[in-house]
Amino acid sequence: MDLEFDRKHLWHPYTSAISPDIAYPVISASGCKLTFADGRKVIDGMASWWAAIHGYSHPILVEAIQKQAANLSHVMFGGLTHEPAINAGKKLLSLLPAEFSKIFFADSGSVAVEVAMKTAIQCARKTKFLSLKNAYHGDTAGAMSVCDPINGMHSFFGNALPKQFFAETNEKDIREILQKNSKDIAAVIVEPIVQGAGGMKFYSPQLLKKIRELCDEFDVLMIADEIATGFGRTGKMFAIEHADIVPDIICVGKALTGGMLTLSAMICTEKVAQGACKNGMPLMHGPTFMANPLACAAALANLNLLTSWDWQKKVLFIEKYLKENLMPLRENEKVADVRVIGAIGVVEMKEKINVAQFQADCIERGAWLRPFGKLAYIMPPYIIEEEELKTLVEAIAFAAR
Ligand code: PMP
Repeated sequence: MDLEFDRKHLWHPYTSAISPDIAYPVISASGCKLTFADGRKVIDGMASWWAAIHGYSHPILVEAIQKQAANLSHVMFGGLTHEPAINAGKKLLSLLPAEFSKIFFADSGSVAVEVAMKTAIQCARKTKFLSLKNAYHGDTAGAMSVCDPINGMHSFFGNALPKQFFAETNEKDIREILQKNSKDIAAVIVEPIVQGAGGMKFYSPQLLKKIRELCDEFDVLMIADEIATGFGRTGKMFAIEHADIVPDIICVGKALTGGMLTLSAMICTEKVAQGACKNGMPLMHGPTFMANPLACAAALANLNLLTSWDWQKKVLFIEKYLKENLMPLRENEKVADVRVIGAIGVVEMKEKINVAQFQADCIERGAWLRPFGKLAYIMPPYIIEEEELKTLVEAIAFAAR
């Protein structure tokens, strides 16, 4: 593999192009294992950033994509439609509360968030958003504007972004901001229960329920960004179910295709769609690869697979395992906190982690983990076996020593 080319010419996520970080060459992946070019195998504790819930090279998903590729791999969605989109759409709606009615298929999580924000602006005829501190909603401009203003990317792009409102993760602050500014705020946007890339923080179902109530009280829409939490990761199919609420708009992505292809969706209620498209207004958005048939076929196969086995029992098993085996790291004096929900285990260190050293330590112990800031975390494919979980936990314990 021409790693020299990679170093010289390929940009990797969140890195400098002129002093790149190390990138390990992967040649194949199967189940929970990645195989490196030198033959080493590592257990993937990241599920490719929350996506590969059924592990890699799952025969059902591979077959679905191969069949679809041989028949219709892509066609524009403008003026045309196809079964993969229709069937994936039907399946998606069947998993969501009955109020959800209209689906916009997009090509990445960030774009789904952009579409959600445009829909909310168009429906509410207002232009601002309220988001929470430590939020993360994506890397495009609109999505960045609702990411945490300190740990998000505002320090780089601040003046280029629309100014939004940010609340502490508590009822009082959210209420105060809504009281003063609801006439300008189109929607409150939140990651339900688990805030991911903005700090891996959890908050209570009671607060999520309160946010829904406050949105009703102040007549602003509620957008639930389930891109990271959707499809079982927190122990429920969607994290909104912990609070038994129905937002007005929901965004999904990542695990939608089981990590096989890039696909996301913005789904809204009939009421929001009616508001947004009043007086013949279209929604002015339409990616070239909208509702890509390959990705939709992968999504359908993946969602059918997910609902065909007791994933919830397995996620609960992972949660129990992580609680029993990761929590003791709290005793480590370098560790600030350990928290677990569903198939997510977070170890927050007191100091910033040296990523290169941490990864080298983990790889030596057969684990693939990628920390950021002070946070190391495990969010494996749901199919992971106990022995493989043990490898991940032991690697994290060593690297955090
Ligand atoms: N929202 C949330 C909650 C996310 O975790 C992410 C991805 N980390 C995104 C949006 C953006 O998704 P994508 O990277 O597919 O654009």
